[in-house]
Amino acid sequence: MAQQCVLFAGGYSPWKIVLASDPSPSVRYAAEEFAMFFEQLCGARLPIISDSVFPASYEIVIGESLRTSDDCGCPKDIAGGEDVWYQIREDRVVIAGGGLRGTLYSVYEFLENECGVRFFTPSLTHVPRRDSVILPVKTHSYHPPLEYREVFYYNPCHSADWCARNRVNGGHAPLAEKHGGAVRWHGFCHTFQSLVPPEQYAETHPEYYSLKADGTRATGRRAQLCLTNPDVLRIATEQVKTWLREHPDATIVSVSQMDGTTPETMLPCLCDECRKVDEYEGGHSGTILHFVNKIAEAIEEEFPYASIDTIAYAYSIQPPKHVKARRNVIIRPCFRDPDLLAEWYRVCPRLYIWDYVTNFRHYAMTFPNYDTIAPNIRSLIENHITGIFAQGVYDTPGLDFEELKAYLFAKLLWNPSLNTEQLINEFMAAYFGPAGAPLKRYLDVLRAKIRDENLPLLCFCNLPVPYITPEIIEFGKACFDAAERLAGTPEILRRVQQSRLSLMFMELMYTPKGSPGRDEAIDRFFDRVQYLGVLLVSERNKLPEARQRMKEMSGLYELAKEIPHDANRPDEI
Ligand SMILES: [Zn+2]
Repeated sequence: MAQQCVLFAGGYSPWKIVLASDPSPSVRYAAEEFAMFFEQLCGARLPIISDSVFPASYEIVIGESLRTSDDCGCPKDIAGGEDVWYQIREDRVVIAGGGLRGTLYSVYEFLENECGVRFFTPSLTHVPRRDSVILPVKTHSYHPPLEYREVFYYNPCHSADWCARNRVNGGHAPLAEKHGGAVRWHGFCHTFQSLVPPEQYAETHPEYYSLKADGTRATGRRAQLCLTNPDVLRIATEQVKTWLREHPDATIVSVSQMDGTTPETMLPCLCDECRKVDEYEGGHSGTILHFVNKIAEAIEEEFPYASIDTIAYAYSIQPPKHVKARRNVIIRPCFRDPDLLAEWYRVCPRLYIWDYVTNFRHYAMTFPNYDTIAPNIRSLIENHITGIFAQGVYDTPGLDFEELKAYLFAKLLWNPSLNTEQLINEFMAAYFGPAGAPLKRYLDVLRAKIRDENLPLLCFCNLPVPYITPEIIEFGKACFDAAERLAGTPEILRRVQQSRLSLMFMELMYTPKGSPGRDEAIDRFFDRVQYLGVLLVSERNKLPEARQRMKEMSGLYELAKEIPHDANRPDEI
């Protein structure tokens, strides 16, 4: 018989959790989380003891301690500190990953892989109930391919515990010290003017800002900086240091050009010094990266954990020919071209990307992108991306299976080789209970239509969309009717009704103005939206405006004319 580790059997567990005598907050929290979920699993409350007592059998060692000083193989001081490692032996378990968040993440990975625990939503964790916990002897290790993983959906932004449990490390969530902190910006983007404010300096020192072709200096809203001016470097460096001192939880400061993609707003400095650098480097990214590198060097000693980021955007998308990014510099490319990404990768191995993953025109619309998530993440990783900001519906809960999507993004950003079908099946069964089966059938029909007809999903598109047909709406209504009948509990019924809002929205949008009962149906829809706690149905309009606007729309095709369609905007940030 294969070797086994008996953690719990016959109503009894002899095991103790062992920690270093002075563990980091995240390692202590890792032990507390393990003890809590283990108790939920089988009812046994394991004691947490210090490694100062003499070693014994049946110890679950969590984090680095005197117990791991021997050659147990656990990772020590790994760069990034998020690597997962655990070892299960007959008489000892060691759960000890990288120092930053790796041990905490190893506990969650252990609970998921070995015990079947699932962290579906902030309010829904599935812990199976076990009469015995008997595990095969093994060693497991995992290195996440992405160092930055952000699921910018409403619930993740508000639940640090859920993020940590699913190994989401982006700083929009209130991740605290016990979670091992977060990848958190101060100054997220377009910061040149915050670093060297024109209202403070433009009058006395116009030379701090871009020299234009006509010989004057740009000092307006989108003016860029003269990046070779030593005073500009000094002021910006001091400001970055001030921000890092004032925000000790920040790990990244963005030093990045102002927004603007038109010729009038694209104003890199044309002074002799700047021009010399940019000509040598073959593009305006030259002055930017030299400037960013100098700030990165200046902060390195006082803030060894921090990085400086900048964007490759508009006039700076061509990589520089000579200068390389310092170790503590991150580039955020605002484009997807694989060849250009490969060129940037030679300049900077840390490339983060901002990924739009919903339709910002109509949050409420059906956006069945379930099967694009994993291939998209895998393709970005193949193209050298090491961090992903997945921007979905971040400012309202409850639309279009939002919690399922947030879960898929969390799982797949951590490990893009996981099976999407299995993730969806597990989620639907747990979240919707008996109502999950008809809703899964509805999702499967949508997914098949997208896949079989190779239909695009655009992030700034108007209706109609080719995957929502009258037949699909009728099929969806039947599925939701069945799900409502099967729900069984008020909580599950509420989840079904929330998820149904997107289908109702699509049906209303497809109903021409003047149809009998249309205005009343729109009122009923918005009343329901408010009753179910949904805050918005589009990114731009508040609910009262959206309600009014929807009534005024004379029909779908006219709606498409009313709002200029600027297609997908992958370059925009
Ligand atoms: Zn200049």
